[in-house]
Amino acid sequence: MSAIAAIATPDAPGGISVIRISGEDALKIASLIFKSAGGKSPEEMEGYTCAYGYVTDGNERIDDAVLTVFRAPKSYTGENCAEISCHGGRYITKKILRLILKKGAVLAGPGEFTKRAFLNGKMSLTQAEAVMDVISSSGERELRFANAVREGAVFRRINVIKEKIIKILGDLAAWADFPEEDIPEVSPEALGKELDEVLTLFRKTAETYDYGRILREGINTVIAGKPNVGKSTLMNCLSGFQRSIVTDIAGTTRDVVEESVKLGDITLRLSDTAGIRETEDVIESIGVDIAYKKIDEAELILAVFDNTVPLEKKDYELIEYIRERKTIAVINKSDSKTLVDKEYIKENFKHIVEISALNDSGINELKDCLEDMFLKEETEADAGIIANERQMECLESAMQNAKEAKYALENGELLDAITVLLDSAASKLMELTGESASETVINNVFSRFCVGK
Ligand code: GDP
Repeated sequence: MSAIAAIATPDAPGGISVIRISGEDALKIASLIFKSAGGKSPEEMEGYTCAYGYVTDGNERIDDAVLTVFRAPKSYTGENCAEISCHGGRYITKKILRLILKKGAVLAGPGEFTKRAFLNGKMSLTQAEAVMDVISSSGERELRFANAVREGAVFRRINVIKEKIIKILGDLAAWADFPEEDIPEVSPEALGKELDEVLTLFRKTAETYDYGRILREGINTVIAGKPNVGKSTLMNCLSGFQRSIVTDIAGTTRDVVEESVKLGDITLRLSDTAGIRETEDVIESIGVDIAYKKIDEAELILAVFDNTVPLEKKDYELIEYIRERKTIAVINKSDSKTLVDKEYIKENFKHIVEISALNDSGINELKDCLEDMFLKEETEADAGIIANERQMECLESAMQNAKEAKYALENGELLDAITVLLDSAASKLMELTGESASETVINNVFSRFCVGK
């Protein structure tokens, strides 16, 4: 394949920039622009070695640089690769890249280095996808799970399911092809049991998706409560700066303010809603409608109660409205005298945290409570979590096929029908890992990458 080149470091001034070249001619191209201090040409260098020297265009000496050589197949892409580390100026880096392109390399598209690694069998599609997840990780857990996938955790997990399906298919084929021979008949009971095992594996794998999604995208959260309980103060306290308007006149948060905040490893995508109360004010009542709509859409509700006043009609209504939902009851103003009916709150909520949004106290307890609610099944996640929508779609459609196969079996349909469904499940799983993904799928995956990776 023709050599590709791109700047692998961010497009910003820095200490060092790295320009990558990959392809059969990578070292030949590097030889045309790089002179080592020791006089050795990059074409003569061994893999995993580097040389100090300078980048040159004819008589012009462009920059001092270090060149690292990787030889196929022992490189990231599986091809010959050269990496030039030069001074990290934007102009100088681009000038060197232009020179490399002039000598015969073509500009790499987004993710093209990783795409070549995938096409050369260096990694599965799920591993390739995890490369980007590692780069975009913003927390300890997220990074750990992305690394596990990059090391092949999802690939192995999916492979276990695929192998089980292929074994069933093998048994079915052997029996269908040679019924007169001494091959034991496939009993519906045994087949049903095997399909149940497969379905359990499917379900457990699908459950990991939500976990990963929460780590990557955060939880759509709404802060709800009657006016003046401290919703805006809580929002400001969490986000660390003044976004909502805080006043002691009831009803000043008229609309929905949104903000993303990180508490430990969890990101809350927060909406602070207008206080829930009956109102004559038209603008504000629109806000109240939005508040209920936001509650309906939220994955998590932080239901705020005021520690300093007894519960009122609007509090009871809110409690009823969110009864079946994932909620944390937040008793605010814990710095002042308690008049609220804590017992009633305890009877009605599983998760309760007492805070003083004004004094930033109790926020650690809120963080612990969130981790307890959303990040409990850690070991499961370490075994490989479904990392994105594409993987989930493949998984769900394979799982659907397996469910239909079980249904067909229970309804006494021909084994042929079951074979067709399981065949389809296996190929969906192979699309997931990339073993048999179409060019469109592959191109789509890599188009989301950054250039130079
Ligand atoms: P919202 O209407 O629910 O958004 O309530 P605000 O955040 O505007 O707060 C209403 C009033 O309660 C303001 O005067 C705040 O300063 C006060 N407040 C908020 N949190 C606390 C707290 O933790 N302790 C005390 N003592 N006052 C608070």
